[in-house]
Amino acid sequence: MDVIPITLNGLPTSVQAGRTIFEAARSLGIHIPVLCHHPNLDPVAVCRVCVVEVKGSRGLVPACLRQVEKDMVIQTDSPRIQRSRRTLVELLLADHPVPCKKQQQTGDCELEQLAAAYGLQVPRFARGKSSAPPSSRLDLSSPVIAVDHDACILCDRCIRACTDLQVNEVIGRAYKGVRAKISFDMDRPMGKSSCVSCGECMAYCPTGALTDKPLGRITDFKNTKPVESLCPYCGVGCSVTYHIAENTLVRVTGRPEGPANQGRLCVKGRYGFDYIHHPERLTVPLIRKPEYPKSLNLDRPGDSAFTGFEAFREATWEEAMELAARRFLEIKRRYGPGALAGFGSAKCSNEDNYLFQKLIRAVFGTNHVDHCTRLCHASSVAALMETIGSGAVSNIFADVLQAQVALVIGANPVENHPVAATFIKQAAKKGTTLIVLDPRYVDLARRAHHFIQFKPGTDVALLNGFLHVILQEGWTNEEFIRERTEGFDKLRETVASYTPEVVEKISGVPAELIKKIARIYAIAERSIIFWGMGISQHTTGTDNARCLVNLALVTGHIGRPGTGLHPLRGQNNVQGASDVGLIPFVYTDYQKVNNPSVQKKFEAAWGVPLDPNPGLTVVEIMNEILKGTLRGMYMMGENPFLSDPNVNKVKKCLASLEFLVVQDIFLTETAEFADVILPGTSFAEKEGTYTNTDRRVQLARKVIEPPGLARTDWQIIAELSTRMGYPMNYASAEEIFQEIAALTPSYAGLSYERLARGGILWPATTPDDPGTSVLFTESFPSGRGKFVPVEFTPAKELPDAEYPFVLNTGRVLQHWHTGTMTRRAKALDEICPEPYVDVHPVDLEELGIQDGERVRVTSRRGAISLKARASTRVSRGNVFIPFHFKEAAANILTNDALDPYGKIPEFKFCAVSLKKA
Ligand code: SF4
Repeated sequence: MDVIPITLNGLPTSVQAGRTIFEAARSLGIHIPVLCHHPNLDPVAVCRVCVVEVKGSRGLVPACLRQVEKDMVIQTDSPRIQRSRRTLVELLLADHPVPCKKQQQTGDCELEQLAAAYGLQVPRFARGKSSAPPSSRLDLSSPVIAVDHDACILCDRCIRACTDLQVNEVIGRAYKGVRAKISFDMDRPMGKSSCVSCGECMAYCPTGALTDKPLGRITDFKNTKPVESLCPYCGVGCSVTYHIAENTLVRVTGRPEGPANQGRLCVKGRYGFDYIHHPERLTVPLIRKPEYPKSLNLDRPGDSAFTGFEAFREATWEEAMELAARRFLEIKRRYGPGALAGFGSAKCSNEDNYLFQKLIRAVFGTNHVDHCTRLCHASSVAALMETIGSGAVSNIFADVLQAQVALVIGANPVENHPVAATFIKQAAKKGTTLIVLDPRYVDLARRAHHFIQFKPGTDVALLNGFLHVILQEGWTNEEFIRERTEGFDKLRETVASYTPEVVEKISGVPAELIKKIARIYAIAERSIIFWGMGISQHTTGTDNARCLVNLALVTGHIGRPGTGLHPLRGQNNVQGASDVGLIPFVYTDYQKVNNPSVQKKFEAAWGVPLDPNPGLTVVEIMNEILKGTLRGMYMMGENPFLSDPNVNKVKKCLASLEFLVVQDIFLTETAEFADVILPGTSFAEKEGTYTNTDRRVQLARKVIEPPGLARTDWQIIAELSTRMGYPMNYASAEEIFQEIAALTPSYAGLSYERLARGGILWPATTPDDPGTSVLFTESFPSGRGKFVPVEFTPAKELPDAEYPFVLNTGRVLQHWHTGTMTRRAKALDEICPEPYVDVHPVDLEELGIQDGERVRVTSRRGAISLKARASTRVSRGNVFIPFHFKEAAANILTNDALDPYGKIPEFKFCAVSLKKA
């Protein structure tokens, strides 16, 4: 960038052209006070506190807005400027409440700080004399943010944070003159508006107008210790600062330097932390009482009043670990290693999960180890591995800002990956053409240039339709196909019959629209595809993902910034758990267990013979339990009772297990079936690494001490292993990470020392490798990209006269998976306290059911009762139920039919009936 000469405060200097005076001064270490300005926001120059003198300008000019020019002569701190700033601050203070809430709470009200800097503690004008009645000044309707209009200086920082960063566009200004104020929607109370409680407005408010409501017993945020760490919820991997006092997590703020979130957070990350201190935390080991056989749990009503604790007695760690080790060894001796299995957790760290799969493989002696990736993106990984030889995302999600076209299919990022969604929404505002395809009107559809609502389960037909048009119209990238792919002719043959007219009949999408979307995606220079579980959670999940890869290969939209494939990963560490081998077919870095040289490598590293046969997946393990061949299980942080399909079957499996050890932080529905319960640690209570959806490995610090006798998860695993005859003597999580790096080529260049300076995108193969943002720039790990053409097949269970509706399940913004954490987070449960089923209003009317009435939803596997919500987000004949609520567990209804490749169940499609309850 060009450098231009200027004179600043009498000194000749040079600065980068294009900068504002504020930025130029800051780059030279000169402080200019601001109130309405923030470096992350576009300047608006409404407060005029940053005014400076520019030679030749009549009035004072705002430094935040005015750009430097060649030979500009600027004065930032003359007596005239001082007078102006002082007067402005005095006038603002006159309206400022006494005491200021923010000053009291955090001590960092920027107006109060400015007043102190100018020595204005005793101002000329009387303070805090608002003419408005108190009821209109205070708005306490939001569960998480207090609004005090008196403290508002109308700087518009909240409006810009809401509109430009989070792209929620809830906050604006209402009224004129002295009545002017910030308003939510059309001047509604914040808690009754469309606000999603992300707290970004509060984070940018310079005064006490928007402040966090305390969520725990400690209300003073001033005397807290900051610890840098990560959000424990979704795969975005937001960097946060936890503010701690008295071993209590008091508050969470976003870290502006966070590479994934740039300071932004969603409602879960900012306000969903207090579950950590919930009184129901497990604090001692528990052992089942003999008078409470597991079969009792089969009959239990499933309501939240049943605590389940009465079935257990407290035990010492010695007792619990001795029992666990002895029973696992007994089962192994009696029935062989294949009678044992383990589920690890995508919520736990890489170190926890590495040790977990090592224990199952090296000590239990089996590859029956899996986790919730099987319920999430296993089919996407199967398709990606088969076609390009790598299951990871090709580009980071923020790359969407460089894309001309973003195609989002079967994903609901606004609720599931909220901060990633802010980048997609920003891109759409800045000119990226956003195409959203989904059977349901997801929130992102509101921002889309094109929203295509297609019939559920018809993804393959629709995507083949796009491919047909692209091939027919010659919108293919011939050079890319020739140089970097194989199997194109077969694709041509397969998609030939998927004319837009044929596909219209299958998918319900008009033929003309199919042509239009195919064209937009194909002819753009840079197109990126995002997908979620709407693609993967089908018996055709692998086929769906194969079609997306076909689209990218046929157009050459992969291997460059702004073009590629990004399956949005769900859990905070589902990528990492898979990377470190928590999958039945592979060790770390997807090295196959049935590859003899890989087997030798791990046998040499671990010093034991290893099973060369791939193990069973989540649902297959359940089936083997029912057959009586699988008898003992170790589950760390998984709750299959609510997360797996066909819950009634899962219940039978859990009750049939001869021996079950559950390691968790709460007595989950699954733990109620355990013989031994081991109290593990929450995210905040241990150090470890986590890998986000971008492949970014990040280090999380220990924030507080665990409650009671709870222990760090990897230490529990190591002790169990040692007691079972395979000593694991690790001194720290860091030592485990060193072992991971030594066995995992993509992680080989990573170390705690490097990660302490910031997250790194794998592959990073040497200590000076900075990591890799865009994959497949020259070639694919498999050499050439392989076209795998697929034919459309319908879902396994289609609606009929008895079960006429199609059920779709998913998440809501405020809750996470089985609700173990979020339903114990006060604010999150307050905002979204109960289950519901979304039904099209016309369907409701035909059924004679009112909006808000209770309905009974029945499938071939069971029934649940919950509130009906009239919603046009679902099309006629379709219903949607979030799966977080144990009192109406959606997975009682879902089908456990599996995708034959990814072995993922068909969560997104089964037939149900509805009746007034
Ligand atoms: Fe946490 Fe995901 Fe929200 Fe970020 S987007 S704050 S990682 S839940």
